[in-house]
Amino acid sequence: MTAPSDVSTALQLAQAMGLDRLDAQLLLGHALQRKRAWLISHDDAPLAAEVAENLLQQFRQRAEGMPLAYLTGEKEFHGLRLRVTPDTLIPRPDTETLVDWALEILRTECPGLPRVIDLGTGSGAIALAIKASHPQADVHALDFSPAALAVAQANSRELNLPLQFHQGSWWEPLDGQRFALIVSNPPYIAGQDEHLPALRFEPLSALTPGRDDATGMRDLLTLINEAPEHLLPGAWLLLEHGYDQAPAVAAALQARGFADVSLRRDLGEQPRVTGGRWPA
Ligand code: GLN
Repeated sequence: MTAPSDVSTALQLAQAMGLDRLDAQLLLGHALQRKRAWLISHDDAPLAAEVAENLLQQFRQRAEGMPLAYLTGEKEFHGLRLRVTPDTLIPRPDTETLVDWALEILRTECPGLPRVIDLGTGSGAIALAIKASHPQADVHALDFSPAALAVAQANSRELNLPLQFHQGSWWEPLDGQRFALIVSNPPYIAGQDEHLPALRFEPLSALTPGRDDATGMRDLLTLINEAPEHLLPGAWLLLEHGYDQAPAVAAALQARGFADVSLRRDLGEQPRVTGGRWPA
């Protein structure tokens, strides 16, 4: 296959390779640093040989299922443009439900300079969105993966949103530290879930607690069981989970002694975030 020579042949080639027109336009726009409107009015703009070769390679990868966000290296989340790499999960719009709930709690219940932590931060999406909308919060972000943390740190610098970073497995690096709010979108997909193959480009460790975890609940339960040692009196723990895990998460929170256990649904009306308050 030869590399396309101008904008319109590139779009035709992408179509012949089975790409969505929008994806092709976004890749082309990214390569040329132009908006879609420009592409539409510049059908015959020539492509430099190197640009065309790279684009052909990206079309191939997209046709094989590589997510667009990994090809462009960016994803929009809660109004922020975040850098993403294959070391990080791609932030989902569903997770904005968790951010919005966290912001409500901060605005209504956490005066002063509350300490907040995002456990398993990945690209930093949740922590950075909270810091952007509630700058007076002292926001911490933790991940087990040094490669993911490097992406979160780059996003923090680029967006000029300072966070405190921790590397380690869940609570391990947080000995003795307590927070006014703890949030997490942990790996929660069951180890043998039929959707995992479709998510093969994303880090498996961000998606599932393990191949041997039949319910996907292992990390959610670790978070629930150990959270009380890190919550201030009256502080909330908010957890994103799978569409069918809400009853199990609520039951585990109640069994651990959490009060005010409640649920939020995502934009698709799926049960998506369950939270509870550690009694004062
Ligand atoms: N929400 C993601 C998905 O369904 C999974 C994220 C996670 O496991 N935390 O694709």
